[in-house]
Amino acid sequence: MPGPFVPPDPGPLVPGSGEAGAAPRPRPAAQQPDWPDRAALRAVTEELAVLPGLVLAEECDRLTERLAAVARGEAVLLQGGDCAETFDGVTEEHVRATFGTLAEMRALITEGARLPVVQLGRIAGQYAKPRSSPFETRSGETLPAYRGDLVNGLAFTLLSRAPDARRLHLGYRVSATTLNLLRALAARGDGEFWTSHEALVLEYEWALTRETPSGRYDLSAHLLWIGERTRQLDGAHLDFVAGIRNPVAVKLGPTTTADEALAIVDQLDPDRTPGRLTFISRMGADAVRDRLPELVSKVEASGARVVWMCDPMHGNTFVMPSGHKTRDLDRIVDEVQGFFDVHAGLGTHPGGLHVEMTGEPVSECLGGSRPVTPEDVPSRYESACDPRLNQRQSLDLARVVAKLYAHRPPSRR
Ligand code: PEP
Ligand code: MN
Repeated sequence: MPGPFVPPDPGPLVPGSGEAGAAPRPRPAAQQPDWPDRAALRAVTEELAVLPGLVLAEECDRLTERLAAVARGEAVLLQGGDCAETFDGVTEEHVRATFGTLAEMRALITEGARLPVVQLGRIAGQYAKPRSSPFETRSGETLPAYRGDLVNGLAFTLLSRAPDARRLHLGYRVSATTLNLLRALAARGDGEFWTSHEALVLEYEWALTRETPSGRYDLSAHLLWIGERTRQLDGAHLDFVAGIRNPVAVKLGPTTTADEALAIVDQLDPDRTPGRLTFISRMGADAVRDRLPELVSKVEASGARVVWMCDPMHGNTFVMPSGHKTRDLDRIVDEVQGFFDVHAGLGTHPGGLHVEMTGEPVSECLGGSRPVTPEDVPSRYESACDPRLNQRQSLDLARVVAKLYAHRPPSRR
């Protein structure tokens, strides 16, 4: 049996310098791995700190411009991909399927909204997961929880579940491989394609942060988001993204207060730059109509021009008697409808959609136009973490979203 969870000793490296030093600011960092071998961690982050960034600072700036158009109501943001990418899962087939399905969703939404759609993958770096419990128990055996391929392995053995710092290096390499294919696919098509992941493992994000002539950027992805479990106002995660110039996003769950949302705006977007900050609402179908209006109206009244997007996945997850985590497409659609209703009521722009999806015919979520039934769910359940929409369900949802845009009232800004 492992002992109680001990928060890791901070002491990461100076961002991008390749030299050991003090942490930028000592703040509590939630959800960090308990790396057993600090020397190995230091060696790997020193290696990463002198490797090329995976994206360019000017690409991040261009994405901020695209998101500014979304914030002004002149474009739509579509963000999607796996809940958790795995190193083994990066096959040409898988990357092509995600890219292709996002492109089809984009085409449907473009037509309905009559606006350009910005395509942002949860891809090429989505390897770290926050967990509700640091341990997992199966048939009486307790091991550390799986925290994503960047940290440990999914296999339920002590060896696999031990955090291994060499995985940070592998994560960088596999991200680069994925990006290489994505850049080729995007160059062939007509659309731009951007990458994003949850900025969770701060040692990794710090190691890929660089001082550039235009300021400090985390060059592991174009956009980084902070999850619902790590958005503490005095925590290290918000402090980290406050210091980088990439466009950033923060998930807002149903317990978020308007004061918290306003404090996040002050911390991450003090200059009120349109496109700098995206709020990803993930309230659940039951809460969105109650909880979201106050957040939107108070943030708008503060003068901030944020992108409001809807993640209709994370507030609607439940566990089936078989033990599989799932989500029902009807509930997902209900949350999206609620999100559009709220924006219609306030005269604000429903900026976009954030989904966990794949282009493959998995059976992880219920429902759809070729329905996945509860009996079907175990048959092709391949997610390493949360249940994803399959290709069919992704396109079903995109059609709903296209209609909601086609019939929306004009926003007042
Ligand atoms: C996720 O996006 O996979 C996730 C963990 O979301 P949240 O932070 O909203 O719970
Ligand atoms: Mn998820």
